[in-house]
Amino acid sequence: MKKEDLIIGSHVGFSSKEQLLGSVKEALSYGANTFMFYTGAPQNTKRLPLDDNLTYEAYQLMKENSIDLSKIIIHAPYIVNLGNLANFDFSVSFLQGEIERASTLGIKYMVLHPGASVSYTKEQALNSIIDGLNIILDNDKDVTILLETMAGKGTEIGSTLEELKEIIEKVKFKDKIGVCLDTCHLFDSGVDLNNFDAYLDDFDKEIGIKYIKCIHINDSKNLSGSHKDRHENIGLGNIGFNTLIDIIYNERLKDIPRILETPYVALSDNDKEKIYPPYKYEIKMIKNKEFDNKLLEKIRNNE
Ligand code: FE
Ligand code: FE
Ligand code: ZN
Repeated sequence: MKKEDLIIGSHVGFSSKEQLLGSVKEALSYGANTFMFYTGAPQNTKRLPLDDNLTYEAYQLMKENSIDLSKIIIHAPYIVNLGNLANFDFSVSFLQGEIERASTLGIKYMVLHPGASVSYTKEQALNSIIDGLNIILDNDKDVTILLETMAGKGTEIGSTLEELKEIIEKVKFKDKIGVCLDTCHLFDSGVDLNNFDAYLDDFDKEIGIKYIKCIHINDSKNLSGSHKDRHENIGLGNIGFNTLIDIIYNERLKDIPRILETPYVALSDNDKEKIYPPYKYEIKMIKNKEFDNKLLEKIRNNE
């Protein structure tokens, strides 16, 4: 596929002052044509009221810059865990609120980490996740939940096709459920990314490729099969630049957003206070299909 056809962006902020308008501005500053955000701090439950005027201003700016609202992604907070029966009611009601917020903002997709079994068995956790999704998914709202493929850290659910398949098969509203791939997580879970088409074949056979609605693009600090989940900047990790480029330009995922969640870069090893977003430079490298040896230097110097 051509670079002009790439739908590519990164994780961006969602500030109290500018809300969605600020997110659009940040995405544009990276040369992106899509983006992903949390509607509030992912680690707590504080949520500010949404300002419709800012949302309309954001829509205007998106229109002027050919950003397609239907490709924007919200990430659900990571404090919820539908697999933890002890906290089930809280997770369900908080996610219902997040779907409501996504719907108010006009956002169609919400990425969710399926959950972790913690002190329960995998079967109990899977059933709890399925029950939760069947309560949350609402056919009156145009919001689809995308289950993220996980690295399999600790008791995480969703690091195998079998687990994702079981959840999707048992979810009632099939048009409200999908999958978000994450290259770092796939790699850490042991998938051979040098043979990404074979993975897509398996995915298609087990679940159906049409369920893939988003892909997170990250390199990995660890080795394949490590089950670690630590993201690295594009081309600086163990997946490598060329493998990631082949995935990004894969025709079979042509119409879905590619979202970078790579780490901010610190000014130096001694100064971890000042950190800079890498996305402008990574998007540029991806469009040029050429790794830039001066990547870290350029990010730090804001060149
Ligand atoms: Fe995630
Ligand atoms: Fe991710
Ligand atoms: Zn991750």
